[in-house]
Amino acid sequence: MAGVIRRLDETVVNRIAAGEVIQRPANAIKEMLENCLDAKSTNIQVTVKEGGLKLIQIQDNGTGIRKEDMDIVCERFTTSKLQTFEDLTAISTYGFRGEALASISHVAHVTITTKTADAKCAYRASYSDSKLKGPPKPCAGNQGTQIIVEDLFYNVSTRRKALKSPSEEYSRIVEVVSRYAIHNSGKSFSVKKQGETVADVRTLPNASILDNIRGAFGNAVSRELIEVGCEDQKLAYKMKGYISNANYSVKKCILILFINHRLVESSALKKAIETVYAAYLPKNTHPFLYLSLEIAPHNIDVNVHPTKHEVHFLHEDCIIESVQKHIESKLLGSNSSRTYFTQTLLPGLSVSAGGEVKSSSSSTATESGERVYAHQMVRTDSRAQKLDAFLQPKEKPPPDPEPAGPSSSSREAVSETRWPAAADMDETEDAEMLEALAEQEAGVAKDGEEETGVNAQELPRKRPRTDQEEEQEDLTAEAAPKRRVIKLISIKELRAEITDNTHKGLQDMLQNHSFVGCVNPQWTLIQHHTKLYLLNTTKLSQELFYQILIYDFGNFGILRLSTPAPIYDLAMLALESEESGWTEEDGPKEGLAQYIVDFLKKKSEMLRDYFSMEIDQEGNLTGLPLLVDKFTPLMEGLPMFILRLATEVNWDNERECFRDFSKECSQFYSIRKQYILEAEAGEEQKDADSWRWKVEHIIFKAFRSLFSPPKHFSEDGSVLQIANLPDLYKVFERC
Ligand code: ADP
Ligand code: MG
Repeated sequence: MAGVIRRLDETVVNRIAAGEVIQRPANAIKEMLENCLDAKSTNIQVTVKEGGLKLIQIQDNGTGIRKEDMDIVCERFTTSKLQTFEDLTAISTYGFRGEALASISHVAHVTITTKTADAKCAYRASYSDSKLKGPPKPCAGNQGTQIIVEDLFYNVSTRRKALKSPSEEYSRIVEVVSRYAIHNSGKSFSVKKQGETVADVRTLPNASILDNIRGAFGNAVSRELIEVGCEDQKLAYKMKGYISNANYSVKKCILILFINHRLVESSALKKAIETVYAAYLPKNTHPFLYLSLEIAPHNIDVNVHPTKHEVHFLHEDCIIESVQKHIESKLLGSNSSRTYFTQTLLPGLSVSAGGEVKSSSSSTATESGERVYAHQMVRTDSRAQKLDAFLQPKEKPPPDPEPAGPSSSSREAVSETRWPAAADMDETEDAEMLEALAEQEAGVAKDGEEETGVNAQELPRKRPRTDQEEEQEDLTAEAAPKRRVIKLISIKELRAEITDNTHKGLQDMLQNHSFVGCVNPQWTLIQHHTKLYLLNTTKLSQELFYQILIYDFGNFGILRLSTPAPIYDLAMLALESEESGWTEEDGPKEGLAQYIVDFLKKKSEMLRDYFSMEIDQEGNLTGLPLLVDKFTPLMEGLPMFILRLATEVNWDNERECFRDFSKECSQFYSIRKQYILEAEAGEEQKDADSWRWKVEHIIFKAFRSLFSPPKHFSEDGSVLQIANLPDLYKVFERC
């Protein structure tokens, strides 16, 4: 039997439509809250009965509704906020469709009491099916509007039946009001059940966003929040808010999202954010976020159906990615604030040509095209994660390095210093000390046996020695290669400078760390106790080599070049590179190069004696200092090193000269981003020749024993704490 098609009664149509817009009391309240805010209210009070099904009453102190408008406010498509279609593109108020009040009046009894600033009294009117039931009646009242909605869905029994219990509806109401209250901090909100004296949500006019989050979600969340904020001119958006850090998690993700001040949902953004947090939070737990996005109105599709809380906007992917990056950068930075490492820089992780990270702004992460999420960093390459990293290698040391120059092991060499001022400095003191030491000799020899007999050969130096220890070794370790004792005041001062400036906490951390892996040549991850740290390998390795140059001064082995390198050619190469900054005014390159050859030749005796840097009669470089076993610097850096020796070293002052030379030399030896070229070209060397191997087995091994990290490393972004156990366990568990 075919059904008869009939035109639906208009009120039925409206009712169905209204039921779509207003699905439950919380929706009605959301629409009405937005109207209050549009009307510039600063105090909004909500009272409900039976979860809003029996009664919703919203009182505000806004502009009110003019008496002339009262007969049409509840009609569909009446609004005071929009006149032409073009207005749509620049709309900044919440409502604009004139649909909310109309819809509500189709499914409930609506009574409005309102007073504008210049009206003599307030007026009250009731509405049904969007029509005024009788003329507005004058009454007493303060400026603002009170809207009462009674018996919601009284005429739509299906909708009414579909709703959950009043208490469930009430909790949704509380949720909506508290979210608007958080977003509109500075304005006061309250919600309560009718008859109760105490409000379930109450915010004060002078409360901050954090106060209001604390009020609604508790102290456990609010104290773990990080403030976020970013802006992108190109994408024409701004974002601010608060996000939970890696120490906090909840069973269900709470994302309070406002876009252009409207409470909305964006599953795409939520998913993107969850991906970021997945690397930090325990499995199956989630973050809390309050985010307020402002997107240029012309980029937002405002004309979506009112029931669609899910929003979409232009350039959605780009904006989401930008937000994601910002959140990531904030998360990375957040944990450090809890430790003694003061973080002033964010880890750049820049693999691109961007180079060293200088900016401390949040834009750091967005500058580099490449994003490295923490979960990618922790998941280390299995090749780089070998157990032997934690064991002393059994292998034999390489064949003995050549003695460092003619007088390498002779005491007399010391007094032959090139700087008369420093020569024979503390003769008497030393003589006294030697005597004293000689007396102790027997005892020392016993103690020294373990150390010098075995280690002195394999590991030339366990930790920075005092000169006294050097003397001891000289006296006791007959079998071991002799160490030259350096008595130059300048070197002693430079050593003291290093010791005095040691950051003990960092030193302990480096001595007892577990190597996790290399992110790239510039950044390395280590674990210490319960924390994961990101270390600037470039800066740390440079400092390591500097300290070796100062401590092992005069005692280096030699790295012989397989073919002598003409200094002239090296200098020319350097001058031709952009890095040299050579300009016409500096004179012809050839002349400069020749000058460098002649100059370094003059210094060659000293360089060979103290630094094992060998330059032959013809002006060829034939040897470089062997700073640590099995480590050779990247030869691409050699030309600049040579040039900088001539331009950056103060050769006139002994101490400055040793310091400057050591700085330049350590820069040349440091693990730098040039190694990336090797990696990117796919020419990454295998095993012992690869930079990864060197970083793990040479550099970081040396940190365990030879290193005195300077204090500034804790403040300049060289050492960053990026995660804390037990969160870290979870990350590893996942890998
Ligand atoms: P819209 O908000 O889309 O304009 P509504 O149906 O929500 O449509 O509201 C219709 C009109 O009623 C609004 O444009 C506004 O002029 C008026 N109005 C509603 N609520 C208030 C209020 N709390 N204070 C002042 N005016 C209000
Ligand atoms: Mg509205």
